[in-house]
Amino acid sequence: MSKVKAVRTRVWNWTGPTVPPQANFCTNASDALFERGDAMTSFRFHQWLTCEVEADSGEIGIGNAALAPTLVKHAIDEHYSPLVIDEDPFDYAYLWEKMYRRTLAWGRKGIGMIAISAVDIALWDLMGKLVGKPVFKLLGGRTKEKIPVYYSKLYADSVDAMQAEAQAAVDAGYQAMKSRFGFGPKDGMAGMRENLKRVAAVREVIGWDRDLMLEAYMGWNLDYTRRMLPKLEPYEPRWLEEPVIADDIHGYAELNRGPIPISGGEHEFSLFGFRQLLDLRAVGVIQYDTNRVGGITAAQKINALAEAYQVPVIPHAGQAHNYHLTMANANCPMSEYFPVHDVEIGNELFYYIFSGDPAAEIGFLDLDEHKPGLGIDISDQHLAHFEVLE
Ligand code: MG
Repeated sequence: MSKVKAVRTRVWNWTGPTVPPQANFCTNASDALFERGDAMTSFRFHQWLTCEVEADSGEIGIGNAALAPTLVKHAIDEHYSPLVIDEDPFDYAYLWEKMYRRTLAWGRKGIGMIAISAVDIALWDLMGKLVGKPVFKLLGGRTKEKIPVYYSKLYADSVDAMQAEAQAAVDAGYQAMKSRFGFGPKDGMAGMRENLKRVAAVREVIGWDRDLMLEAYMGWNLDYTRRMLPKLEPYEPRWLEEPVIADDIHGYAELNRGPIPISGGEHEFSLFGFRQLLDLRAVGVIQYDTNRVGGITAAQKINALAEAYQVPVIPHAGQAHNYHLTMANANCPMSEYFPVHDVEIGNELFYYIFSGDPAAEIGFLDLDEHKPGLGIDISDQHLAHFEVLE
């Protein structure tokens, strides 16, 4: 029997060069406030957490979390790590329930569930390494020859810049791409026209045989979205993502009755959170984030539930853990893919912390059958650009 010997958490603070985002880069939930200063601070993540779970045999499983890393580190160190030490990592379902139930009073959504996610992902990586198999082979195996990926960037910019970026993505072979809105309710009718102009411009470049996804990152509201949907319909978007804040699930349910599928879930937590969304038919596409939702253990339960509702699951973000889940589930048709680029908002930081995340080629990626676990390692290649807190 294997036993967990130690849990090590580290916060990685990026101190290297960053690309400042342009004005109206992406709508976000803070747009509803009359904030002085930089509302974009709620859309910038320049820290990351790694969580390493070590077995008594010396094998190390790697998990991670991207939101509020210093708080998550504290939660793991103080509360979750003692719950898994000396336990068998293969008892993952029991360990998940133990972490969840012992902290239920405060941990069930937000920081607690992110901490559970990081530990759970590390346990799965560890199990894969201990049996010498990639994680997707433990979850259901290969359901696709390769994983189709969609290009996820195209933040709002000048029409020319967005068209050039969309063209580059077409040239690189992507069959699907996601663009961000830069304007919302505070920008009035003129902002609506700016939004529509950019959707039209991207559609013009990519043609009508590629999928176009649209993302508002909770920066709109119900009234604004109701007015936008008929204007967006002629551009045939594959989905409209997070038009309203994550707690407005009845708003999602109303919007999802229309012809454009509404997607969401990257800010929702656990099987129970997704049961509510599915019961209300609130989303046409589920986008849990594995390193928030409760890790791979919770994600697999949500996959089964979503399949019964026939709602496809396309996890939020790139990263190995999402690819392994997508590969192992027939109801996950594709993966989100952040192209490798300079550090901007920070969701690309994982490329600088880990090595081994697969790169997309001509719109697809594949997982290595011979790499045990999730197939990633913590890299020291960019260490000079991080301040690491132990
Ligand atoms: Mg999103």
